[in-house]
Amino acid sequence: MSLVVVGSMAFDSVKTPFGEVKEELGGSAAYFSVAASFFTEVKLVSVVGEDFSPEYIEQFRKRGIDLEGLERNIGKTFRWTVEYGDALNEAKTLKTELNVLERFHPKLPASYCNTPYLFLGNIDPILQGNVLKQLSPKFAVCDTMNFWIQGSREHLLETISNVDIVIINEGEARLLSGERNLVRAAKTILSFGPKSLVMKRGEYGALMFHHDQIFAAPAYPLETVIDPTGAGDSFAGGFVGFLARAQAPLNENLFRQAVIYGSVMASFCVEAFGLRRLWALNVTDIQCRYAAFRDLTAYEDAELF
Ligand code: AMP
Repeated sequence: MSLVVVGSMAFDSVKTPFGEVKEELGGSAAYFSVAASFFTEVKLVSVVGEDFSPEYIEQFRKRGIDLEGLERNIGKTFRWTVEYGDALNEAKTLKTELNVLERFHPKLPASYCNTPYLFLGNIDPILQGNVLKQLSPKFAVCDTMNFWIQGSREHLLETISNVDIVIINEGEARLLSGERNLVRAAKTILSFGPKSLVMKRGEYGALMFHHDQIFAAPAYPLETVIDPTGAGDSFAGGFVGFLARAQAPLNENLFRQAVIYGSVMASFCVEAFGLRRLWALNVTDIQCRYAAFRDLTAYEDAELF
């Protein structure tokens, strides 16, 4: 089944211990849509400015992503400047220039209506709420970040109360819940209304709190990690893309498998700056790494007791 994603399209300036890029193509909708496009049909809702070159548009088209919902407005594309320390786990935002995102009012094209799956990427929670109302999807997932947790908490809580799953990183979960312990943080966030919570933990993997169960997945141990930007959105792209491909009825096992596909897509994303690794992927790469994930935690019981 198809899915709609709403989020940012960006030019990111990123500094990591391994190098630096200026105005690299990024944004939550960009990472999510490319990752999800390996699993299902993706319809994108976002905005770019006059400085967004047609070659970029063509790259998304080549992945089969529907761009009818991508607006091109007067002004500059959203820009984000970020720096990561040695641990690579914490993004230090140096500058957020909303530009065309500031006056963006997403309008879903008629052809997007009745799309069953929706991902509300990292974007103003007021806009997330608008899209949710326009679509009334069967299954909705949302992400957010510190910028909105601190700056637009009430609207964010409203959005969260209306989605099936929240996907955020552990630092955001702590900030949103006011709890340091992750299990307590999850309980608090689930009390806001979503059915499940997926907590991304960077190099420590991901935790899913689903009904009364907790599922833990490791991050793939990589020899080369270059840039963590977009790992969260790529994770979400694999996660929601897989669920949309699997179709209803979604059961516990499919959710667990979705966490692994999310981890697979995130593991590719961090191997190069920006979207460079994701553009170069194919389905065989994805299946091989999925199998490697399985091997990573597989073992047989020796009957000693
Ligand atoms: P992540 O997957 O968490 O690393 O998300 C990274 C993407 O989020 C980057 O490509 C940024 O362009 C985008 N981003 C950062 N800050 C914001 C913001 N305040 N609103 C929308 N998108 C953002």
